[in-house]
Amino acid sequence: MDVALARAWLDAAADALAARTEELTSLDAAIGDSDHGVNMNRGFGAVRTALAGASPAGPGAVFTLAGTTLVSKVGGASGPLYGSAFRALGKALPEGAEVDAAAFGAGLRAGLDALVKLGGAAPGDKTIVDAYAPAVDAYDAALREHGGDGDGGLAAAARAAAGAAAEGMRATVPLQARKGRASYLGERSIGHQDPGATSTWLIFQALADAAAT
Ligand code: ADP
Ligand code: MG
Ligand code: MG
Repeated sequence: MDVALARAWLDAAADALAARTEELTSLDAAIGDSDHGVNMNRGFGAVRTALAGASPAGPGAVFTLAGTTLVSKVGGASGPLYGSAFRALGKALPEGAEVDAAAFGAGLRAGLDALVKLGGAAPGDKTIVDAYAPAVDAYDAALREHGGDGDGGLAAAARAAAGAAAEGMRATVPLQARKGRASYLGERSIGHQDPGATSTWLIFQALADAAAT
């Protein structure tokens, strides 16, 4: 993972979130307040702008800037949650222009830990965690199985992470929300896919796409 791949990931994520703004918003209309697409699009658009005007020396600095931007630009619950995750990812990475696939995986887990610490959600609460946690587990498992040498290792691990995030996202449908706005609905939150788990899948899919090219 180098600065170019870090930038390419966030760019691909911004593109995907912009393309799916309405879809995310309509998921949030069912169990929230209809703003998740707008929140994510605004946040990652601001990340794109911030990165265009910056010259980060390594991927860590890219993600720290992205996280700080998300915290400051997104009003909803998702801004501080994703912002903390990206900041923790950035701070966890070793300094230098390039980090290996194992260090990047450890950074992804540090991001998850920060998000859980802030939001207090457990797996099964119908949140971002339901896509993010299995994604990180799948990333680690893929590295253990196939090794992390070169960009090929990272690309394969990212592909596994995106697949697990998609599965985790779909598995939120039958769950009852226990955190965030959707939890106010109680049993009426059952039968709907969680918006945050959906944006998490888009972000991991963007990583897989960026790493594959
Ligand atoms: P808001 O709910 O403030 O309008 P968004 O609509 O942008 O914010 O984000 C909603 C998403 O945030 C939910 O679908 C859920 O996945 C996620 N979320 C809410 N609370 C938590 C939490 N405590 N931990 C993890 N994710 C959460
Ligand atoms: Mg909302
Ligand atoms: Mg809101």
